[in-house]
Amino acid sequence: MLHDFITSRRLVVLLATLSVVALVLVGRWLNATKIGGQGPAEPFRIAGNFYYVGATDASAFLITGPEGHVVLDGGYPTTARLIMASIAKLGFDIKDVKVLLNSEPHPDHGGGLAVLQQASGAQLWASDASADSLASGGDDPDGFLPLRALTWIGVLGYPPPRVDHRFKDGDTIRVGPIVLTAHVTGGHTRGCTSWSFSVRDGDRLLNVVSACDLGVLASSRYPEQAADRERSIRVLRGLRADIWVTCHARWWGRYRKFVASAAAKNPVEPFIDPDGYRAYLDAAEVELRQGRVH
Ligand SMILES: [Zn+2]
Repeated sequence: MLHDFITSRRLVVLLATLSVVALVLVGRWLNATKIGGQGPAEPFRIAGNFYYVGATDASAFLITGPEGHVVLDGGYPTTARLIMASIAKLGFDIKDVKVLLNSEPHPDHGGGLAVLQQASGAQLWASDASADSLASGGDDPDGFLPLRALTWIGVLGYPPPRVDHRFKDGDTIRVGPIVLTAHVTGGHTRGCTSWSFSVRDGDRLLNVVSACDLGVLASSRYPEQAADRERSIRVLRGLRADIWVTCHARWWGRYRKFVASAAAKNPVEPFIDPDGYRAYLDAAEVELRQGRVH
C-alpha cells in the first residue's frame, strides 16, 4: 500500500516534470522559429563603425576599430553562427573581435557568447549581477524556481562563457579608439546594462544608446525591481540618443530602418531617431505605472 502510494507519487512528479519540460521545449521551439525570432537577417552598417550583425529579432552589434572589434550580445546559442556569418559577410574577421559585451544574461542575449568567445578568443566584460548569471550558463537567481531547476539540469540555459572582467556602473570599456560607457540599468534583470558611445558620420559625431529591456517577466521578479526600473528610466532619459537600439530588433525598428536606409540619400539618416527613443522610454514608464508584466 505504502509502496503503491510512493510509486504513484513518483509518477505524478515525473509526469509534472515532463509536462513542464515539454512546455518549455515547445516554447523554445516557437521562439526560435516564429517570425521576428532568430531567423537569419542581412547584416548592415548603421553608422560609421557601428553595424548590425544579429538575427531577425535577437539583436547583436559589431563596433569595429583598428585595434580590435567589439561585439555586443550573442543571441541564443544557435544565433552565434548567424552572427559569425554576418561578421564575415561584412568583411571582418571574428578573430579580430577582442571584447564581448552583453545587455542581459537571459538565453536570447547571453546564449551565444560562449560560442563567439571560443571562435574569437575575445574577453568578456559584464556587470557583477550579469557576470554571475553568464558564468553559470544562464541561471537567473531571481527566476521562477521550476525554470531555474530546468537550467540546473541543462534543459534551459546555455554553454557558459568565461567572464574575464567585471565593471561598475559608469565604467568605460576601451579597445583602441572605441570607448563605450556602461550604464547598469537594472529592472528586467538586476545587472542589465545599457551602453552609450559615439560614432562618426562624415564630420558629425552621433551618440548611440543601446538601451536595456525595461519590461518585467512574470518569471523573473525581485524586490527592488520597481525602484530599479524607475531609476533606469531616469538614467536613460538623461542620455542623448541620436541613434538608439535595444536587444530585441523589432522594438527599435531594425527592418523598417534598414529598408529606409537602403533608399536614403544619406543611409545613416533613417537610424537617427531620438523620438523613437523617447517613445520607448515613455512606453516603459507607462508599463511601470500600470504594473504590467510579460
Ligand atoms: Zn530578458
